[in-house]
Amino acid sequence: MTLRADSVYRFFRSGDEETLAVRGVSLEIAPGELVVLSGPSGSGKSTLLACLAGTDEPSGGTVWVEGGRMSGRTEAARAALRARHIGTMAQSGNLLPHLSVADNLRLVRRIGGHRGGTGPILADLGISGRAAAWPHELSGGELARAALAVALVNEPAVLLADEPTGELDAVSEAHLLELLRARADRGCAILVASHSPAVRAAGDRVLRLDDGRLVA
Ligand code: ADP
Ligand code: MG
Repeated sequence: MTLRADSVYRFFRSGDEETLAVRGVSLEIAPGELVVLSGPSGSGKSTLLACLAGTDEPSGGTVWVEGGRMSGRTEAARAALRARHIGTMAQSGNLLPHLSVADNLRLVRRIGGHRGGTGPILADLGISGRAAAWPHELSGGELARAALAVALVNEPAVLLADEPTGELDAVSEAHLLELLRARADRGCAILVASHSPAVRAAGDRVLRLDDGRLVA
């Protein structure tokens, strides 16, 4: 079980108001699968991904990653498990603006306990020529591929991507989907939150969230 959630709940409380963002979601993603998490805005996609990534802690239920428990642990333990096994990618990008693309990758490599070796991933994603560029110098498509490079540079077993094509044109979106498929073919378990029809069509399976619940 590469990635598994058992009855995950996430409630937010502010004053007297309670938002039930995720209500009892169970799922399992196997190595080599590209699964799409779809659902309207506000249905809980980002909240669920954050619970799976361990950047947030569920109010109830359990998350397992590569046989280790992600939920119900300290933030430091979750961060360590995430660094070892999970790559994350968000629409807004996961690149530090004051570092070149190559230095962003080197930093993430070092955090993951690895050294050097950022050339292969850049070549793999077709952006070798942009290694020295600053993030603000990249086109939308290049930025998405650089963000994917950051997510994949430590060769994680699991990739969680939140609306990764939200700001891309159709050609760049199709290219990014090809890259995701190639990673899945090499054994990565991928979950992509998106309401793009092209992303839905590219998935092996589609999980639909409605008001915090998975629907058939
Ligand atoms: P999606 O990604 O599908 O658009 P979200 O997971 O962002 O949905 O949000 C699901 C629900 O949870 C929304 O009603 C949102 O307002 C609420 N929500 C998300 N994060 C918080 C938070 N930190 N505090 C309070 N409510 C939140
Ligand atoms: Mg969202």
